[in-house]
Amino acid sequence: MARLILKPGREKSLLRRHPWIFSGAVHRIDGDPGLGETIEVRASTGAFMAWAAYSPSSQITARVWDFSESARIDADFFRGRLRRAVDMRAAVLNPGPTHAVRLVHGESDGLPGIVIDRYASMVVIQLSGAGGFRWRDTLVELLAEITRAQSIFERSDAEVLQLEGLAVSVGLRHGAALAGAVGVEEDGLQLLADVEHGHKTGFYLDQRDNRSLLRTLAPGRAVLDCFCYTGGFTLSALAGGAASVLAIDSSVDSLAAARAHLELNRLSGAELLEGDVFQVLRRLRDQARSFDVVVLDPPKFAPTAALAQRAARGYKDINLYAFKLLKPGGLLLTFSCSGGMSRELFQKIVADAAVDAGVDAQMLRWLGAASDHPVALGFPEGEYLKGLLCRVAAGTHRR
Ligand code: SAH
Repeated sequence: MARLILKPGREKSLLRRHPWIFSGAVHRIDGDPGLGETIEVRASTGAFMAWAAYSPSSQITARVWDFSESARIDADFFRGRLRRAVDMRAAVLNPGPTHAVRLVHGESDGLPGIVIDRYASMVVIQLSGAGGFRWRDTLVELLAEITRAQSIFERSDAEVLQLEGLAVSVGLRHGAALAGAVGVEEDGLQLLADVEHGHKTGFYLDQRDNRSLLRTLAPGRAVLDCFCYTGGFTLSALAGGAASVLAIDSSVDSLAAARAHLELNRLSGAELLEGDVFQVLRRLRDQARSFDVVVLDPPKFAPTAALAQRAARGYKDINLYAFKLLKPGGLLLTFSCSGGMSRELFQKIVADAAVDAGVDAQMLRWLGAASDHPVALGFPEGEYLKGLLCRVAAGTHRR
């Protein structure tokens, strides 16, 4: 077995159960491990640290499978991890028969670089690391056994694959061929997940709790849904009794999918607008439009911490205009799914936006991903989705 020896003192993060070994921490590699092969990780003192998957071309040279020396990284190991993850969802969620749920959330489920989502009888596996690629066939077999899914589809097409020296891998891996989007049900709404072409694995499962929050806030309200994609928030707002929804996205295909969702659920009262949110918000402001609730769920502006400062400008801009468009007493649900954006920085950006918009606003609560997207305590990077529910004070002063 090949062995990775750390530089002196560089075992600290591993002792705190952080699963990544950065290239800068590596003293040397003994042996000639292949891409994704399991290697033994040892401190400079020789002490055993972990079993990890080797990824030579990545800045993250190895990702930890297990911290205990007695572990064996084999099919049984993956069966145990998959079962643990699936059982956790069964314990904390109460999904219906045609539910959509994230079964495995990568590092936070002890399976670095492996995401597995379930849409009714369809399971989608998304691999983003060399270790997962190496164990693909085993993972698919085990998933068929554990989930009894009719089909298992692979969507390993994330941008990060390049950095890992891995090629895109997309296609049916088990069972029946796909016949278009998969129908699922959430909160009484019929949803379609296009697992082959949709974002992520087909749907934004992580926003489930926030959709249901919006539903409770929606009755009688005029809602603005920015970056609506296939209409997740729009559907929830209408189902909750919103008076109207204006939904904006720059993608014609996403808007077509949103329209199909509205028809499927026989919901009316939404206007779907193709456009750049940055421009549309300004235009709405010029038209003196106002809303009771604004949702801002933009794409990742800052994939890495290094880009967070530049992305901050984009977040500030849309939040500023959202505050300007909110009526006194209006509510803002604002999100960042950028892994590189901390909660502290996000809160500061939103606070600055309120100041510049000339409104007094309060934070009612922090928002985040649903509990099928857990965050391992030793892996804060797992908390990529953060959001704030803010309220513009009534009688607030506007400049
Ligand atoms: N809120 C959605 C997910 C949003 S994903 C949900 O809950 O399902 C981000 C969306 O923003 C994508 O649909 C993308 O097409 C859109 N988008 C990206 N940049 C945009 C821009 N400048 N203006 C409008 N839409 C944009």
